[in-house]
Amino acid sequence: MKEEDKIFVTQPAMPPLDEFINSLTEIWDNKILTNNGPFHIKFEKALADYLGVNNISLFSNGTLALITALQALRITGEVITTPFSFVATTHSLWWNNIKPVFVDIEPDYFTLDPEKIEAAITPQTTAIMPVHVYGNPCKMARIQEIADTYGLKIIYDAAHAFGVKQNGSSVLKGENLSILSFHATKVFNTIEGGAIICPDEKSKKRIDYLKNFGFAGETTVIEPGINAKMNELQAAYGLLQLKSVDNYILQRKVVTELYRQYLRDVSGIAFFDDISGIDHNYAYFPITVDVKKYGRSRDDLYEKLKSHNIFGRRYFYPLISQFPTYRGLASSSQYNLPVATKIANQILCLPIYPHLPHADVERICNIIIKFKQS
Ligand SMILES: *Cc1c(COP(=O)(O)O)cnc(C)c1O
Repeated sequence: MKEEDKIFVTQPAMPPLDEFINSLTEIWDNKILTNNGPFHIKFEKALADYLGVNNISLFSNGTLALITALQALRITGEVITTPFSFVATTHSLWWNNIKPVFVDIEPDYFTLDPEKIEAAITPQTTAIMPVHVYGNPCKMARIQEIADTYGLKIIYDAAHAFGVKQNGSSVLKGENLSILSFHATKVFNTIEGGAIICPDEKSKKRIDYLKNFGFAGETTVIEPGINAKMNELQAAYGLLQLKSVDNYILQRKVVTELYRQYLRDVSGIAFFDDISGIDHNYAYFPITVDVKKYGRSRDDLYEKLKSHNIFGRRYFYPLISQFPTYRGLASSSQYNLPVATKIANQILCLPIYPHLPHADVERICNIIIKFKQS
């Protein structure tokens, strides 16, 4: 079968090549490749405007943004987090010598369950790292209440939440740090890239130092920073992407609505509907497969689709807590994580991207419908 017949879980939307070549010509002329160049400055400002936030610091990728955010807040000891995420969430703790403490997710939107956080707090706990998984906003007000009561910091892994709004305001905004990823697989990509959204100018300044070796001046190094700077090519590419991202999200919404229409009445297949008051970004189209009602397991369906050259992904299976580095932790026990354990065994993300042909969505759904065992 031809390579182009394969449908992957995602495919990046890219800016028009001729426009990017114009930007490259500018870069070749001015010979500034990185270190807060003209495209970086423009993109940082344009991105803050687009997202409706005041302070943002660009990064070379989302993982370094997470690692740096933990440094910026001087987080140590233990951090409460979710096992139902991409491994980078927990890896960022590990790279800071912090012990992850896994808390279960809630069954409606698969985000960290606030009602289970307090039981996991110890004298070593310094912060909570929740994830707006699939762009579903965490129960932020309740998490904030707990953090305030116990004097904990919050760092949101918002890698999935680009452009997501709650009652008209960005979920990235607020008194905490939020981290974005602009990896090729995300709603908004700069090839690789990321950002930290910070509450004020002071924290942005410190984060800007930290991502550039700790340099606060030509000969002044205030602390052991890292190199996590976004380069000019990424920034120029990102600037072009901003012109189209509303359209990308709209096209994703159309694909999402098609999936919902075709799969609505398939017993044993469940998916998220829009949440009232939320502007979604339609980053993923996750379904859960209930083997009793659907008659086939999630893995059976995953393999069936693969046999048709349709490559869904089981995000997030296995749970982070199941990887060798983390599975020895007490909080990794499946008895501590019943909801996450169940969902990880049922979840399947179907292909979604702005230019996914609608005929393919119909074909994918027909395979799912026919495969159901009655
Ligand atoms: C993609 C992703 C990251 C990592 O971002 P990179 O830019 O790939 O380093 C972190 N957390 C979550 C939840 C992600 O999906």
